[in-house]
Amino acid sequence: MLKAENLSVSYGGIQALRGISLEVPLGKIVTLIGANGAGKSSTLRAISGLVKARRESTVTWKEKNLLGLNPEQVLEHGVALCPEGRRIFPHLTVLENLRLGGYGCKSKEELEAGIERAYTLFPRLKERSWQKGGTLSGGEQQMLAVGRALMSDPELVMLDEPSMGLAPKLVEEVFEIIEQINAEGKTVLLVEQNAFAALRIADYAYVLEVGEITLEGPGNTLLDDPRVISAYLGG
Ligand code: ATP
Repeated sequence: MLKAENLSVSYGGIQALRGISLEVPLGKIVTLIGANGAGKSSTLRAISGLVKARRESTVTWKEKNLLGLNPEQVLEHGVALCPEGRRIFPHLTVLENLRLGGYGCKSKEELEAGIERAYTLFPRLKERSWQKGGTLSGGEQQMLAVGRALMSDPELVMLDEPSMGLAPKLVEEVFEIIEQINAEGKTVLLVEQNAFAALRIADYAYVLEVGEITLEGPGNTLLDDPRVISAYLGG
């Protein structure tokens, strides 16, 4: 499992994460919900080595320490991040974007298998393999970002707001895909503003408020929690 304890992140004088602890058991979907600026992205970025956690923090994946590693090394441990805002390369084709996601692949076969996996999950990407990333629709770019994060066949996938900016129909599709990825054996740590959809598919959930975890429990329990309903589910 992924285990974060006392995870703290500061940007200059601002403490964005104040010693949070969370667990993501193997094979499960765990979600982190919370308002803008609560520290959700910072959590994923700290785990993946994109930002430095404070010294007192610990993060382990399958009992191996991840803190202090760079993002490439974290990926080598089987932990991948699909960042917020898609971050695909707009001037490269779909196929080129996928290939770049496979920089950690150890052989040509592995790379080809990754591309095949992305195309099987998202047939739309296959149809558009020669199209420039920047000309894809929002939903297609999101598919490409998820496909790219899966290129190295990670065991743990961390998704940062995969439904952001998508039309309702596509939002539904994204959540179905997350469930499918999980059913295929991947462990998922999901950050979402769409609390309702995230809690519905999550085995377990944490609510983050200004850098602290204020509530946690099984996804469907939090769906019925009056505090969650009033703060995150529109009353
Ligand atoms: P959102 O849902 O809006 O993406 P979030 O819950 O993911 O928010 P974070 O992006 O983790 O929140 O930000 C937590 C806090 O840290 C915010 O107050 C934010 O302004 C601050 N922060 C994030 N990144 C930086 C940075 N690089 N430099 C300075 N402050 C930052």
